[in-house]
Amino acid sequence: MASTRVLQGVGGLVKHRGSKVVVDYVVKGGGFAGLNAVAGLARALPEANVLCASVLPPGGSWNLYYPHVKLHAAHPHFGVASHPWPIDDPHVLASREQVLQHFNSYVDTIPPNFDFAQNTAVVAVNSTREADGNNLFDVMLRDTLSGEEMNVVARHVIDATGANYDHHTRREEDFLFQSSDIPETETVDLHAVMASANPGRDRLYVVIGGGKTGLDNTAFIAQNRRATDDILLVTGRNKAYFRRDKIQPRKDAMSPFNPFQFAVADLMLDMVLNFDGNNGLDVVRAQQAAGMLHTVNGVPAQAFMLGALDNEERRIVEESTEVVVDDYFVGTQETEKKLNKAEEVEAGGGRASSSTTTTVLFQHREPLETDKEVVLVNCRTSASPESHYVDATHPVRPDGTLKFGASLGYVCAVFVLRYGAGTNFPPWQASCVGTRAHMVPPPFCVRTLHQTEVALAVR
Ligand SMILES: Cc1cc2nc3c(=O)[nH]c(=O)nc-3n(C[C@H](O)[C@H](O)[C@H](O)COP(=O)(O)OP(=O)(O)OC[C@H]3O[C@@H](n4cnc5c(N)ncnc54)[C@H](O)[C@@H]3O)c2cc1C
Repeated sequence: MASTRVLQGVGGLVKHRGSKVVVDYVVKGGGFAGLNAVAGLARALPEANVLCASVLPPGGSWNLYYPHVKLHAAHPHFGVASHPWPIDDPHVLASREQVLQHFNSYVDTIPPNFDFAQNTAVVAVNSTREADGNNLFDVMLRDTLSGEEMNVVARHVIDATGANYDHHTRREEDFLFQSSDIPETETVDLHAVMASANPGRDRLYVVIGGGKTGLDNTAFIAQNRRATDDILLVTGRNKAYFRRDKIQPRKDAMSPFNPFQFAVADLMLDMVLNFDGNNGLDVVRAQQAAGMLHTVNGVPAQAFMLGALDNEERRIVEESTEVVVDDYFVGTQETEKKLNKAEEVEAGGGRASSSTTTTVLFQHREPLETDKEVVLVNCRTSASPESHYVDATHPVRPDGTLKFGASLGYVCAVFVLRYGAGTNFPPWQASCVGTRAHMVPPPFCVRTLHQTEVALAVR
């Protein structure tokens, strides 16, 4: 499945190109953003010399997500623009393997003068001016396995580190967290943790975070737990989701008069046009009232992060889980309790002389006590503060590199709508919202903006 065109680290690059490498473009990052940058260059400048240097293999952060993750958009709206998917039905949500296969098979098709090197970090970019007045960039690469370094000279650098997912925020990084002796389970380890359940003790799974990862993992636990295990989902700010049946109706529910029906872009356009700079939450709630967005348990939204949720996923969560909305998990306390004789017998024929009660603590709500084994599942936010993914970063950086993110097309709108009142936006973002409003063609806008940004880089 891995692409045969992938070079292994600095060693692989030197073997393939020699030690003096001069290219027209270095693309930093090989995820959704990086490979769309590569695809844009392959279309616009197929003769160019291009090096995509990426720490992770093709597909970027999809290599790190939990195994049961699924694309929550329809696959034709995601991936490398115009590159085919090995799935026919757009209503089947692509698995992690299928997403990675899509990105790897794209790398198989890049022109011969394009290279993709994995385990290769761009560690420094220095701009130098040539005698003819043109800017060149000295790009230092480091092999993430061997530590070997090399310099590449590039005419242009596109920083496509995009989301740059590394991990979900850990409790050490969560300023609300107080303390707990129970280690947290990361979603990539959930399968193993569930399989290792002690048959003699029921569990309470506490899912921390009500974003898409939280809901996916709540549904996963609901479908794989023992009948006597409980689930608690602590949402943080309660998020609204696109209703998948509205933005992507099933074929049999589509109107014969309008095969395109409704798309994410139509909804986002409507939201952006109704946004006056300060009413982000009102705009989100108006769409919730109109039935275009929904929340678990139907409570009013406090945030919107572009996730999509279908009615079935929502039903599974609502029917299986106690949902704590608009509150935060802050820690646990454990108390040992000595058992009396009758309790000892009940607990295992005289073998146990004490039992543990765990108190789950929240920021606002009364603590919750349980005798069950508590499993804490970390689904806090995955947006890294360094990634500028949800940030007001101008795409052209002061050093002349182009910052090219997967979310460039929608960050401005989302950011506005997420943070609502009182947010000040730099003028370029406002114009980006306007541009986007004119550009959104169904079914989605992000690709168009990617191509625009590549065109900008090419000029
Ligand atoms: C659990 C989860 C599920 C998601 N599901 C969806 C979904 O269904 N639909 C959707 O649209 N989005 C989804 N997303 C968002 C998703 O992250 C983006 O859509 C997209 O895959 C991110 O692509 P990217 O290229 O911006 O970033 P990444 O995929 O993170 O790529 C960044 C790349 O930069 C590289 N890199 C970083 N630093 C350096 C360096 N110094 N030198 C060289 N390379 C470097 C990394 O190795 C990586 O290859 C999901 C996110 C998460 C966390």
